[in-house]
Amino acid sequence: MNKVTAEIVEAIVNVTGSGPVGLHEPDFSGNEITYLKECIDTSFVSSVGKFVDKFENMLCEFTGSKYSVAVVNGTSALHISLKLAGIQTGDEVLVPALTFVATANAVTYLGAVPHFVDMENLNLGIDPDKLRVYLSDICVSENGKTINKQTGRPIAALIVMHTFGHPSRIIELKKIAEEFKIKIVEDAAESLGSFIGNQHTGTFCELGILSFNGNKIITTGGGGAILTNNKDLAVAAKKLTTTSKVPHPWEYEHDQVAYNYRMPNLNAALGCAQLEQLENKLIAKRKLYDKYKESFSNIESAKIVSEPIGTTSNYWLNNLKLTIPNKSQKDEILAITNNLGIQTRPFWKILPSLSFFSESPRMPLSEAENLSDSIISIPSSSKL
Ligand SMILES: *Cc1c(COP(=O)(O)O)cnc(C)c1O
Repeated sequence: MNKVTAEIVEAIVNVTGSGPVGLHEPDFSGNEITYLKECIDTSFVSSVGKFVDKFENMLCEFTGSKYSVAVVNGTSALHISLKLAGIQTGDEVLVPALTFVATANAVTYLGAVPHFVDMENLNLGIDPDKLRVYLSDICVSENGKTINKQTGRPIAALIVMHTFGHPSRIIELKKIAEEFKIKIVEDAAESLGSFIGNQHTGTFCELGILSFNGNKIITTGGGGAILTNNKDLAVAAKKLTTTSKVPHPWEYEHDQVAYNYRMPNLNAALGCAQLEQLENKLIAKRKLYDKYKESFSNIESAKIVSEPIGTTSNYWLNNLKLTIPNKSQKDEILAITNNLGIQTRPFWKILPSLSFFSESPRMPLSEAENLSDSIISIPSSSKL
């Protein structure tokens, strides 16, 4: 182990203690069992029950979104949001080169093609300045549509994602989307509890999504939600995710092919109990970040990623960033910490390096490549 690796590993262990330590473990210390028992005692475990409405109302209250629609996972929330944004077969959708694969997968569910764009170093989000120059370069406007000159396909939408809970420059990105007349969907899967000023991430555009998978800041087992301030979109989202059933006490009438993406009552019950504890989790997360920040303060070779200025991150997942991108250094740190039972993970691979996206259009991804070689996620459970 070289000296740089040794000092970084020591700075992590200073905070986590010796292994085994998980990357991110859920924490159930509130009303989870009470609410789950209520579902079982009343037999409302599935598609009927009061917890789904309650969970949606709590989400609206916390995020300030007018409407929310709870669904089975974040991926299905993305799928439906893109469908509601009007994405069609043969469209291109701009997707950050570094995000969880689900963001790009959801694009392909509609027969559309992900078009990967570069990131910026400071906040790990899409770089708006590069994006504007790139779009000016490759796009022409035809009949109110923005066409990619290189592929001839319409560029129909942009997905913005707030990496690890750190807000992207969504306001600038939204301006670009307006200039180029493309739709925008906010993937706030990782950023429940993150704000720009007083506004919650996921509420800056017509459509935003959240995830409550087991590794997120709160969990419903599996789950997600669509956020919108537009009543028509909220009604359409509810219909599309509930087999488009026409309300009737007993008749099976459906008015279009739709999806069975509704969140079951059991999962929503868990979600209600988890949401009640969100403020406490956010405090615990920030404390953990402060400890890591302190532990790395005298280390030159790596720093802890901090929230962008003007924003409040949920600090869902803490990350160190090597001062100089270095893949072999990164791999060595991963190997040593995991061998010690301290679960660490690399940043994602850039998505066009996955075989099934190898043909996808992309802009030069130099910053995404650098970030992929310099970022390591470190243990971040709220109970640490
Ligand atoms: C977790 C996640 C999703 C998908 O959420 P699931 O609930 O696991 O389907 C989408 N995008 C990002 C950025 C995520 O981290």
